[in-house]
Amino acid sequence: MADFVGAVDQGTTSTRFMIFDHGGNEVARHQLEHEQILPQAGWVEHNPAEIWERTVTVIRTAMQKANLGATDLAALGVTNQRETAVVWDRTSGRPYYNAIVWQDTRTDRIASALDRDGRGDVIRRKAGLPPATYFSGGKIQWILENVDGVREAAERGDAIFGNTDSWVLWNMTGGVDGGKHLTDVTNASRTMLMNLETLDWDDELLGFFNIPRSMLPEIRPSSDPNTYGVARWPGSLGGEVPLTGDLGDQQAATVGQVCFSPGEAKNTYGTGNFMLLNTGNELVRSENGLLTTVCYKFGDAAPVYALEGSIAVTGSAVQWLRDQLHIIKDAAESERLASEVQDNGGVFFVPAFSGLFAPYWRSDARGAIVGLSRFNTSAHIARATLESICYQSRDVVDAMAQDSGVTLDVLKVDGGITANNLAMQIQADVLGVPVSRPVVAETTALGAAYAAGLAVGFWKNTDELRENWNESQRWQPQWSEEQRAEGYGKWKKAVERTLDWVD
Ligand code: ADP
Repeated sequence: MADFVGAVDQGTTSTRFMIFDHGGNEVARHQLEHEQILPQAGWVEHNPAEIWERTVTVIRTAMQKANLGATDLAALGVTNQRETAVVWDRTSGRPYYNAIVWQDTRTDRIASALDRDGRGDVIRRKAGLPPATYFSGGKIQWILENVDGVREAAERGDAIFGNTDSWVLWNMTGGVDGGKHLTDVTNASRTMLMNLETLDWDDELLGFFNIPRSMLPEIRPSSDPNTYGVARWPGSLGGEVPLTGDLGDQQAATVGQVCFSPGEAKNTYGTGNFMLLNTGNELVRSENGLLTTVCYKFGDAAPVYALEGSIAVTGSAVQWLRDQLHIIKDAAESERLASEVQDNGGVFFVPAFSGLFAPYWRSDARGAIVGLSRFNTSAHIARATLESICYQSRDVVDAMAQDSGVTLDVLKVDGGITANNLAMQIQADVLGVPVSRPVVAETTALGAAYAAGLAVGFWKNTDELRENWNESQRWQPQWSEEQRAEGYGKWKKAVERTLDWVD
């Protein structure tokens, strides 16, 4: 009897494998970071071979830790950093170029050109996305135009594209030996190439980027009873496991937070922040700088859509304090340092390192620390960094309320930064609503496991999943209305200072 479901979470900073039981409890995990390759300002790459190697190791190690074999797993799910583009050769299995990561801004000219001649509006209408460096389409175009031999190989059908879900799935199902070239609707909805209504690649959109259709994976539901294939790996553990779940990481977290009804939302605090609001089977088009995206599609059921507020830099601003400013030794120390002061001392930090994403979508913005005086210390900078995470989330929460008419009575949160009590307290203060974290904070891997388990009947339905959700901690707002309004007003002013910086 298979009592467990496993999930690969191929994230931006690390890859992890987690094993869950029927109650949604974590049984084991293993996690490994991979190198962030930063060849020049604005460029961010990963080595796909390293990612696959890490994936194999984390699966094997977590299975060993739990003392489980393949027959103990009812199904496997995959979730991934979205938008990051890999182009590889299906005959050799070798990538043509490093993966171009979602944060990479090298395609800013490709993105801004789309808005000059009206193509941008077609992309907004069909794909639900504003033209931006963030999404995969421009990254594939860049590889086709800048890496020798790729266009010819793509025309021949040898060079194929995928986000890292496709890369991992292709390798897990056999690689050069019959690997399946697949993705799911949520990942496909982040490329600027899929039509949100037909849930298929769109020839007009492909034409905008000059991408041959033969490069693209087949689009499947996020939870697929027909299975994506069997994971031959971990064959070394004594068997094969059906692969039945695939979702982009933020959609997976929405599932892991059991936001199955329209109006339910979650905010994930990782490298960046991503808030998703379930809008049900209705495609809601944002008038306030949010994305329209596929939330999930379970088997044959109609797709569920979401509004999304994506913020490029939150946890990575904390990494910046550690790696570039050297004012903290690890991310957790940001809480201790920021707690040395009672408030931000007048300092506001807008970490627009990759421009500003939602709700501004300004690739011309760059970061700024404003309000400095001789009095300020590194503790104020640390506090302003935590506040920036919360103020950026406030921008998105406000945009969601305007687009959907839904006002939150509580914000469900997850992700690495939610370990930071001060940050979560500030979040409740800045929003004026309570913030709630579940017991299982690894909602991304959990959501992929849920999608995989639903497909094979390990879980019967979403009601059963709802019962697994339990609150572990809640933060109540403490600021006065006046404090909240004053702080947010200053934040908005600070944001203004970052705009129009890059031509
Ligand atoms: P991802 O899935 O995007 O790789 P995680 O959810 O693992 O991200 O979160 C990692 C991010 O959270 C890192 O950017 C790190 O700087 C930040 N982080 C982790 N712990 C803390 C903490 N205690 N306080 C502030 N930031 C933190």
